[in-house]
Amino acid sequence: LNRLADIAEQAQCHFHVDAAWGGASLLSERYRDLFAGIERADTVTIDAHKQLYVPMGSGMVLFRQPTLANAIAQHANYIVRKGSKDLGRHTLEGSRNAMSLMLHSNLYLLGRQGLARLIDASIEKARQFADLIHQQADFELISEPQLCLLTYRYVPPEVLQALREGAAPVRQQLHELLNTLNQDIQARQWAAGTSFVSRTHLKPVQWDRQPTTVLRVVLANPLTTLEILENMLEEQRRLARQSPFWQTLQAWATVN
Ligand SMILES: *Cc1c(COP(=O)(O)O)cnc(C)c1O
Repeated sequence: LNRLADIAEQAQCHFHVDAAWGGASLLSERYRDLFAGIERADTVTIDAHKQLYVPMGSGMVLFRQPTLANAIAQHANYIVRKGSKDLGRHTLEGSRNAMSLMLHSNLYLLGRQGLARLIDASIEKARQFADLIHQQADFELISEPQLCLLTYRYVPPEVLQALREGAAPVRQQLHELLNTLNQDIQARQWAAGTSFVSRTHLKPVQWDRQPTTVLRVVLANPLTTLEILENMLEEQRRLARQSPFWQTLQAWATVN
C-alpha cells in the first residue's frame, strides 16, 4: 500500500483502497500492521456485511476529504434538490434502509474489542486450516493466508510428482485436467449441499503463472471448528474419486 501511495503521490492521482473484504481487520491490534499505508488513501471502501457481521448491503466509502463526494452528484427538481443532504445525491440508490443502524448496533454490542476477537479468531483458524492442508498428501495449499482467506486444490500425490518431473506438454495437460477436476469437485460439493467453498482462477508464481483453478475458503463463521474443516477435506477427497476426471488424471499421471 505504501508503494502504491508513493506512485499515486508522484502521479498526483487519487489513491483508492478497496478494503471491502479485508478492511474490518483494521480493528485487530494484532494484524493491523498488515495494512500499513492505508492511512495515506484518499478513499477506502469497507463492507460491513463482510467481516463486521451485519446483513448485506452495508458497504461504506470513507473519504479523507468529505467534499470529494461531490465529484459525483445528481439532482432533480422533484427529488434530491440542490442543497439537499440526501445521500441519494451521490449513489445509484435513492431511498434506502438505515443500514448504518445495524453497524452502529454491532459496534455498540460487540464493541471494537469484540469484533477484533472475532477477526483474530478467523485469521488464526485460517492459519490452522492451512497447516491442516499442508499435512494432506493429496491437497495443495495455493495461497498462504494473510488474513482469513486461503486457496487450495486437490492434487493426488502421483500427479503432483508428474507435474514436477514430467515433460512440458505433459505438465500442461495435467494442469488442465486438474483444473477440470477441481471445478468438478466444487460443483459436486455444492450439489451435495453439506458444505460449500467457492472457486476462482489464480496464476500462482510456484506454477509459472499458469491459470489454476483453486478452491477458495473464507473462515469467517466463529462456529466453524477444525473438525468441520477436516470432514470437509474428507468429503472433497471422496467427491474427487467419484469424478470421471479422476480416472483420466490417474491414467495420464501413471503413463507419463
Ligand atoms: C465484496 C467485495 C466487493 C463487492 O462488494 P459488494 O457490495 O458486497 O458486492 C468489491 N471488492 C472487494 C475486494 C470485495 O471483497
